[in-house]
Amino acid sequence: MLKKIKNKHPLKIFSGLLILTFSFLYFANYLRNNSIYFMPKEYKTIKKVVDKIASKNNLGDRDIPFSIGSGIYMQYRLEELGLCEKDGCWYYRNLDPYKNHQKVDGVNINELQNQSYLYNGLEAYAWNDIVWLSKSSFLTYAGKTDYLGCTIGHELSHIVFNDHIKQSIKLSENLKKLKDKNMAENLTNSNKKENNEKFKNEKDEIKDILEKKLSRDSEMVADNNAAKMIINAGFAKETCLNEITFIAEKMQWEADTNIKSTHPGYLERFKSLQNFIAEYDKSNELKDFEPYKWKWSYDRKLNILIFSPKK
Ligand SMILES: [Zn+2]
Repeated sequence: MLKKIKNKHPLKIFSGLLILTFSFLYFANYLRNNSIYFMPKEYKTIKKVVDKIASKNNLGDRDIPFSIGSGIYMQYRLEELGLCEKDGCWYYRNLDPYKNHQKVDGVNINELQNQSYLYNGLEAYAWNDIVWLSKSSFLTYAGKTDYLGCTIGHELSHIVFNDHIKQSIKLSENLKKLKDKNMAENLTNSNKKENNEKFKNEKDEIKDILEKKLSRDSEMVADNNAAKMIINAGFAKETCLNEITFIAEKMQWEADTNIKSTHPGYLERFKSLQNFIAEYDKSNELKDFEPYKWKWSYDRKLNILIFSPKK
């Protein structure tokens, strides 16, 4: 029977098989590029951690995209090799580590990416409402997804609680006070021009120091919010405190705070979080929590995983 069909419609069977093969390849490729089941393992880890955080924390109404990049190690090495200049090297820091890249002036970018994975260490930031992590962060936190949760919680806090604008308003208020103070001094001083120039220089310096101080404060608020998220999600109370020590040792943080730094030193950061955790009452916080649903979408070509709350 089969032989008979074969003889009768060889072309039809061949085209049928061809269409089937192409459909299968198209479907397999679509799944590879878009399905959360075929994402790189680092994205699966993000999903696992954020699923747990979101089960007991309100993460707002907006989509939150996550992206994994190559890391600042790439930026430094390529600048040293003379393949880019300062700000132009930002491109390499964000380079998609899951794609193959062409050589640049004989330098093997894929090899540099492997090195960056090994040596870059922890690197995470929230920028333009995207949580960005270097691929190497997942090596740093290998087997410690609870610690990774603290870092993700910290970056989520920057986005969910919109602390940039709060920080900016505080800076504006402080600068206004400074300006009023200078005007008052000017009224009692005859040499206004000299005074104004002196004030301008001082203002720039004070603005810089104030900006750094406000940034450090917002970092400590983000640490507290991260600990809150992690405790609410069911992890041990001390998790994020232990994570700070773990990462301070690994990344060789300074013990003391530098007034020109955007981040506090280890001792200040640890103490601040320790005080917060000692006071924090999970049951009080969770009594008003309303569970909600969310969905995930992954796009390999854009190198992005998006958390979308449905409320
Ligand atoms: Zn931060």
